[in-house]
Amino acid sequence: MPAKAYGIPAANSTPRRRIGNNRLHPPGGDLRKINPMLRFFPVLLILLAGCAQNALTGRSQFMLVSESQAVSGSAAAYSQMMGELDKKKQIESATPRVEKVREITERLIAQAVRFRPETASWGWDVQVINDPKTVNAFCMAGGKMAIYSGMWEKLKASDDEIAQVMGHEIGHALANHTQERMSVAMATSVGLAVASIAVSSRTDSPAAGLALSGAALAAAVAIQLPNSRESESEADQIGIELAARAGYDPKSAVTLWEKMGKLDGGSAQPEFISTHPSPQNRAAHLKELGAQVEPLYLAAKGKPHDAPHFLAAKPGEMSREEYAAKVAKEGDAMTFQSEPFQRFRSGKTVLECRSECSLGYSTRKAKWRVLYDGQNWRDLAISVLQVGYLSDLSYFLLAESAQGLGMKDAAAVYYQRALDAGKASGCGSAGFSCEGFEVQRLSATALKK
Ligand SMILES: [Zn+2]
Repeated sequence: MPAKAYGIPAANSTPRRRIGNNRLHPPGGDLRKINPMLRFFPVLLILLAGCAQNALTGRSQFMLVSESQAVSGSAAAYSQMMGELDKKKQIESATPRVEKVREITERLIAQAVRFRPETASWGWDVQVINDPKTVNAFCMAGGKMAIYSGMWEKLKASDDEIAQVMGHEIGHALANHTQERMSVAMATSVGLAVASIAVSSRTDSPAAGLALSGAALAAAVAIQLPNSRESESEADQIGIELAARAGYDPKSAVTLWEKMGKLDGGSAQPEFISTHPSPQNRAAHLKELGAQVEPLYLAAKGKPHDAPHFLAAKPGEMSREEYAAKVAKEGDAMTFQSEPFQRFRSGKTVLECRSECSLGYSTRKAKWRVLYDGQNWRDLAISVLQVGYLSDLSYFLLAESAQGLGMKDAAAVYYQRALDAGKASGCGSAGFSCEGFEVQRLSATALKK
């Protein structure tokens, strides 16, 4: 089958003309085609633009859409894109490589859920798009993934390398990069209008010819925008670790990018490289990360897969939710989070930051209450450590997290520090609330036990 046989011209790519309309008609894009809501985005932008700190990486991200909007918009775009490709007989099914990709992806998802338990309820999906000339893969918000057959046909990727590709993609989704790129796409109505034309008229786009709007349009645009180099580094870190924990060789991350770099070169670089630009010293960093996660790989290699299936549940296995709750309690941190986490485990965390960290503290402590109520101890501890603000509430939450994770000695240290901090750095001072915790009384009681 010819690679680009599905290049049907976009049904909505001919600009509609309205007689007697004297509004400006920008070249390359008809602003009236877009959802009327989106025309007000510059105003909405000012009202809503917020930076959210990512729970996994701690980095501040520009977010215009919530995660749930990103997930539902991505699901809508994905189902239309895959439906359209299926009509053109471009979705592979029941081939050995489809089975292999599903097996690899299941193993990776089981590790992803370990670090973001709430993703157990995502509608994870992966499809192989039969397009032997395209070397690409993507993961939208909510775990909707696809990989092109060019990964095998052109790149000759091994199973371990496919695991690195999919791990990297899942890394983007876990760190909310799709949501971030959707926010960038939505940041101006002009940007989205032009992008929508680009998406619907590009014959090599999975969204070619689809009439998408709102969050679904932004989701389809987002997978074609390049990630920032910072996002790439994050996805590299997360991906190589998920793959190692799933039993795939970290050295294959290096060979994968080497193979990518050698393809065609210059003019016809693989699509994967255009949406996943190389951060500085990628090869050196991947080697270093690979060495760090090597023990995880050796421990996992060849082990049977005992997690439930996330792509298609099998009867009689543990439920996804039970699995998520079980692994969340294991108190394991990702390697890149692990240095402060190890200090925390051994009772050596000292918080010293005040005014510089007060913004992070004031914006995140309401979420700490939610993590606390959900007994999500590892994420709570990591978030408190990422903010680093000195207050009795911070220490109290570290103490409760340590207690919840079974680290009794560390918990005692932090309860004592909460009591000590209360004198000068009580959570009720400087106009802050204590999120409903009677920190001093609770810490004193815990220490007497
Ligand atoms: Zn990437």
